[in-house]
Amino acid sequence: MSDIYTKSKRSEIMSKISGKETKPEVLVRKYLFSKGFRFRKNVKNLLGKPDIVLPKYKVIIFIHGCFWHGHTCKKGNLPASNIKFWEDKILQNKTRDEIVISNLNKLGWKVIIVWQCEIQKKSNRDIRLSQLVSDIIDENK
Ligand SMILES: [Zn+2]
Repeated sequence: MSDIYTKSKRSEIMSKISGKETKPEVLVRKYLFSKGFRFRKNVKNLLGKPDIVLPKYKVIIFIHGCFWHGHTCKKGNLPASNIKFWEDKILQNKTRDEIVISNLNKLGWKVIIVWQCEIQKKSNRDIRLSQLVSDIIDENK
């Protein structure tokens, strides 16, 4: 099937659709960039396709949505209906996350998880992001 949109039009549409979803990632990337960090994003040849990879520090950062990755916060609460379905689904995701992290660790990467809820509010965000920076740098000492 051929695409009725040009490539750039298509990616414009896609970015509008997924815009809200990717915002936490953009926040983290912008912050790190402003602090002078240089990184690769959505690295396909690493397991889990990490959101942010800092080769210089051997650090990988995942920005996890609380719901999909089963965070133990308010946003990680399951919907009231179809509980079994969601439990299985989220458990699958969590298991996959654990496998991804342990494999990356074995390859020598330090993996840092930033939860969506940790950076959603401006008041928490600054603390979390400066913590992130020290986590990145510490590893290299
Ligand atoms: Zn959370």
